[in-house]
Amino acid sequence: MTTISTQAHDLLARMGVAKSLYTEGTLTARSPVDGAVTGKVVESTAAEMQAAIGKAHAAFLEWRVIPAPKRGELVRKFGEVLRTHKTDLAALVSLEAGKIASEGLGEVQEMIDICDFAVGLSRQLHGLTIASERPGHRMMEQWLPLGVVGIISAFNFPVAVWAWNSALALVAGDTCVWKPSEKTPLTALATQALFEKAVAAYKADGHVAPEGLSLVLNGGAAVGEALVTDTRVPLISATGSTRMGRIVGPKVAARFGRCLLELGGNNALIVSDKADLDLAVRAIAFGAWGTAGQRCTTTRRVIAHKAVHDQLVERLEKVRVQLKIGNPLADGTLVGPLVDKQAFDAMQAALAQAKAQGGTVRGGERALAAEHPEAFYAAPALVTMPAQTEVVCHETFAPILYVLKYEKLDEAIALQNGVPQGLSSAIFTTDIREAEAFMSAAGSDCGIANVNIGTSGAEIGGAFGGEKETGGGRESGSDAWRQYMRRVTNTVNYSNSLPLAQGVKFDV
Ligand code: NAD
Repeated sequence: MTTISTQAHDLLARMGVAKSLYTEGTLTARSPVDGAVTGKVVESTAAEMQAAIGKAHAAFLEWRVIPAPKRGELVRKFGEVLRTHKTDLAALVSLEAGKIASEGLGEVQEMIDICDFAVGLSRQLHGLTIASERPGHRMMEQWLPLGVVGIISAFNFPVAVWAWNSALALVAGDTCVWKPSEKTPLTALATQALFEKAVAAYKADGHVAPEGLSLVLNGGAAVGEALVTDTRVPLISATGSTRMGRIVGPKVAARFGRCLLELGGNNALIVSDKADLDLAVRAIAFGAWGTAGQRCTTTRRVIAHKAVHDQLVERLEKVRVQLKIGNPLADGTLVGPLVDKQAFDAMQAALAQAKAQGGTVRGGERALAAEHPEAFYAAPALVTMPAQTEVVCHETFAPILYVLKYEKLDEAIALQNGVPQGLSSAIFTTDIREAEAFMSAAGSDCGIANVNIGTSGAEIGGAFGGEKETGGGRESGSDAWRQYMRRVTNTVNYSNSLPLAQGVKFDV
């Protein structure tokens, strides 16, 4: 039987990663599938990070003057390479982050989708022409390349989040330096190798691509910190916990850099008495327990109308006990492992607190411990709560679903908004008044507010992100590209006089 480590190494070799990069380093990579060591990855120092930023900055000076549609051609090629290696990279995502096979494939599909989006965008990086108040004058906006973009990513979307940022940044004329999660260094190495294949194909077609367009440096917070504090990096896009955002945000602000923060969520789904319960049950099961509860958009709270609460809990419990827990790449598995022991311990601590705060806990116990003593599988948990107590207001990155009860929609919306995070939200209702109220100015305060679909699983076409402690960032689709560029306002005088704005006179 091939071990997880052998499987990972085969995949890395197929994607063109040099063996020394994952066998001769000091950063221990482990698979959450069985807890086995999968590599010893070369770790960078803060000084190496500074050197990499210098390289990326030099590349930026060349890349920024290449026409955007030509930059788009590189991203198009990268999308092609990803299509060729989709199953390899997806399997590695499953081995390293513990996602089930279809979610691993979905993650790589998201990379392909954002490449396609960015290629189209490379011909649409447009500004406005604005009416000037002065005769013989024209005013316009241009969007110009920004510089080096620093990308810090979390373990749970080890490759897609980088692609959301880098595909847009590259067409915008920026270059990228990536500090992936220390829990997922192998997928980062694989992604870099695939990107380098795209660069080689681009060059083979006669295009110019400077060295250092996109670099990856593995390591922990110290390496991330060197990226965060460097004034040559005008934009830091950081995805991870609110704890990390609280450290990174002020550091970037202190040097007047731009920050795009994508932090923790605590997403609620309201189930009205007018909901289609069949749809709601399916959406909640995937949202709460899929990805083993390790998505920023995971459904962590259900706020159910008192008329449907008991029935909904009963139906969810029936689904919960049937969910197949196990190796994420095995057929039929719906719930893979937690990323590590720390995540399992945090889950147990939250369940103990929920009990102490009056909750009734179903499930949540360790699973498959005999088979995988070094890995941490957990039965999904369903917890009915008497109120939105302290533990419910925290994001515990595990498959715990808290269920609360409401009578009036206003009360449900107040509960939904009554937590510090503001990422994703949803309502299940067939009543148009309820749906519109939920999406209105007085409704959900989140960056994402859905009707009759769950909180989890966004498409790349929309802007993604959330308010409050989620950090306020928006990335991926819509006009998120603007953050990767700088706006310049140009006023051109084509007349023979020099009128001043607002009629000011200064005759000399
Ligand atoms: P984490 O905060 O532990 O780590 C995220 C990244 O930040 C890692 O690369 C880590 O090395 C780096 N980091 C940590 N401290 C740093 C510092 N002081 N300076 C620079 N870099 C630092 O998060 P995690 O456990 O990997 O991921 C789970 C969290 O991420 C959850 O809270 C989840 O909600 C959140 N998340 C948010 C989104 C989103 O789009 N909003 C997406 C995915 C994950």
